Amino acid sequence: MDHVQDHSEELRVAARHFGRRRFLTVTGAAAALAFATQLPAAGAAAAAELDARRVTEDPFTLGVASGDPLPDSVLLWTRLAPRPFEPDGGLPAGRVSVHWELARDERFARIVRRGLAVAHPEFRHGVHIEVEHLDPDRVFFYRFRVGEWISPVGRTRTAPAPGARNTALRLAAVSCQAYHDGYFTAYGHLAREDVDVVFHLGDYLYEYAVGATGGARAYTDRTLPAVFDRETLTLEDYRLRYALYKSDPDLRAAHAAHPFVVTWDDHETENNYAGDTPENDVPPEEFLLRRAAAYRAYWEHQPLRRPQLPEGPDMRLYRRLRFGRLAQFDILDTRQYRSDQAYGDGWRVPGPESEDPARTLTGAAQERWLLDGWRASEARWNVLPQQVVFSERRDRPTADFKLSMDSWDGYPASRRRVLAGAEAAGVENLMVLTGDVHVGYGLDIKADFRDPASRTVGTEIVATSVASGKDGADRPSNYDRLMQANPHLRFFNGRRGYVTVELGEESARADFRTVPYVTRPGAPVTTAASYVTEAGAPGLTPA
Ligand code: FE
Ligand code: CA
Repeated sequence: MDHVQDHSEELRVAARHFGRRRFLTVTGAAAALAFATQLPAAGAAAAAELDARRVTEDPFTLGVASGDPLPDSVLLWTRLAPRPFEPDGGLPAGRVSVHWELARDERFARIVRRGLAVAHPEFRHGVHIEVEHLDPDRVFFYRFRVGEWISPVGRTRTAPAPGARNTALRLAAVSCQAYHDGYFTAYGHLAREDVDVVFHLGDYLYEYAVGATGGARAYTDRTLPAVFDRETLTLEDYRLRYALYKSDPDLRAAHAAHPFVVTWDDHETENNYAGDTPENDVPPEEFLLRRAAAYRAYWEHQPLRRPQLPEGPDMRLYRRLRFGRLAQFDILDTRQYRSDQAYGDGWRVPGPESEDPARTLTGAAQERWLLDGWRASEARWNVLPQQVVFSERRDRPTADFKLSMDSWDGYPASRRRVLAGAEAAGVENLMVLTGDVHVGYGLDIKADFRDPASRTVGTEIVATSVASGKDGADRPSNYDRLMQANPHLRFFNGRRGYVTVELGEESARADFRTVPYVTRPGAPVTTAASYVTEAGAPGLTPA
């Protein structure tokens, strides 16, 4: 790849001094050292404060967001960028004071908390505010102010109290929003759905070059600047790419309407990377610098809490959220710690290499954390928001079938350990939420996928893409083949959209919401199908 020559000066200097050392030692300390200059300086070294009067254009072009609801806390996000398609966002390198308000009502008559935050130039004026000591299970409205500029209003909520006997939770799951493949119409509809929280399961952005006409968005006469017409590689590239994505009004509307719980997949960094191993033939130390840039831009632009702040190329993204007694969410990161894909990736006949028991998709530490968390769980539903398809998925109904080496099928030992851990912990209602494949699936998770008569031990709901794959079709060309090859595959649809899931005490219901097209704006949304699974008796049946 010749564009690796494109590194910014910052990355090149860091590479010379620390890249090889980071690669050789693979310690967090070396990585933190390598990227220490990116943290906001304190005291006399801190950037000068910028007079708010110098912000002469609306700085809230990227919208507002909230995320990771806790029983007593909400996380609020915005980023100041008067000119979002310029590398500095249109702001000089100074600190900016940001006022924020949290209220019980949309008109901000009943304000419960207000404060002042600092937007640091080192974070490209991204702001993360953790508002604490709030009442559980409440809806709040929030907004920001810089000088005379007031942001759009966002709506968010706290989770129910620990141990609360809550009886209903509505969530949505989304993934895969290739800007260049179509409009985010699905997000416009999702913004109007009555859901408590949205899970983003990865591919929030794609690293590929976006041309002047915006790919499949050529319907409008807008011309995109040349900065997007190259693959993202440097911190500046990734920051600009988030700005491009957040220029979509439907995406901003969805963020403003609901708190998001985000996890990444590959494209936020690079297609199908695995841990330290890039997709293509690039030295690992160079790839880790790219990963550091991608992870940092991700943190700067997502509603994430402080424990997720990256250190160099390392970022603790896997984490746990609870919604009373009804649901525990173990949000996974199946990219950062995985073994390299077997047989060189792609669809392969499984064999000794893919079935090697030493292979891992989660890494040992995350696996232990998951199984420990399940043992301590008192939740009715144990939900696993994560990236790649968990259930076995054969590509043909004959004995010479192939499996995707990038999904859990390429890491069957990992899957076996997780399912054994769920059983040992007494997890009854396991629900896996998945993205990545740009189609919707409803799947029964089998104790042994090779034996269709074996027990169903959970359900998997795969959310189709918001835009990736362009318009799609209700029945893709491989529909009959896949349904025949995988008897545990209950539902399959190839349109764009999202899923809503309602968790109750007795059962859960999934609605697969789809739009008929994304290459033109304005598509309506309909429910392609609805499925239920009963608590204590896993398996999907049509609603
Ligand atoms: Fe994708
Ligand atoms: Ca993916």
